[in-house]
Amino acid sequence: MTEWLAGIDAGGTSFKCGVADGAGNIVAKFRVGVTTPEETIGACLEQFEQLCAEHNGHIAALGIASFGPLDRDSASETYGVIGATPKSYWSHTPMIKPFSDVLKCPIKIDTDVNGALIAEMVSGAAKGAVCAAYITIGTGIGAGLYANGGLLGQASHPEFGHIHIKRHAADDFSGACGFHDDCLEGLASATAIRARFGPPEDIAEDHILWDIESYYLAQACQSLYLTLRTDKIILGGGVMQAPFLLDRVRDQFETLLAGYAGMTRAQACSIIHRAGHGDDAGLEGAFCLAREAREELK
Ligand code: ZN
Repeated sequence: MTEWLAGIDAGGTSFKCGVADGAGNIVAKFRVGVTTPEETIGACLEQFEQLCAEHNGHIAALGIASFGPLDRDSASETYGVIGATPKSYWSHTPMIKPFSDVLKCPIKIDTDVNGALIAEMVSGAAKGAVCAAYITIGTGIGAGLYANGGLLGQASHPEFGHIHIKRHAADDFSGACGFHDDCLEGLASATAIRARFGPPEDIAEDHILWDIESYYLAQACQSLYLTLRTDKIILGGGVMQAPFLLDRVRDQFETLLAGYAGMTRAQACSIIHRAGHGDDAGLEGAFCLAREAREELK
């Protein structure tokens, strides 16, 4: 029987799942659309069990990199439980128990952005960094932060998506955040873009949206850089799939810093990157968590 690590990148619209061998090579991947917790988790379990049966595999540990808010404190009674969320059906959902009941293996959970950040630091675009951040710009906006040898925001996690930012002069959108209207997430998430201009993937490169978007993301990078003096800031999530966006964020970041702290265009390019693992950053992070779960057992 082959021993596998299993990973789930539990996002707001789909769960990306996979199994990897001991060396971390992905053996199989699948995706489950998000509906209710029962249906979604049930479908994940069904496919994991099918894979095990087909390949004579055994899941030795599972890592889950999940959307939040999430209780990520392993000493807490509600470890692995989703907090109050506007996502229908998912508030207060336990993310560990339904998997441990069936898979009967050690499970470790963290936020999707913490998972992605660790994966990027281990083997992606932030490899070698001592202080790094990962920002996802998708349905929502979240960030994982690493400094002084550990993840920041413990025992909880950062809520960087809800910081206040300065508005672009051409932006009169009221904002899409259910709590704060025009916070970073309320103005720059895919949800906000969709509400104003339609699906981001359909919006032309010369549309004003991209000036607005890069201005907001550059402000996010500026706040992180000036607070933590990050070596690397990794930008991931669906909105970053626009191929021209990264360079525009770097341009605006350099403009906003205005030479302060000796910032140059070359430095902006060395700090701000797209995820090295691309769309798989969260899943790779889940495998890192699975590896930790297995090590902690030994
Ligand atoms: Zn907000």
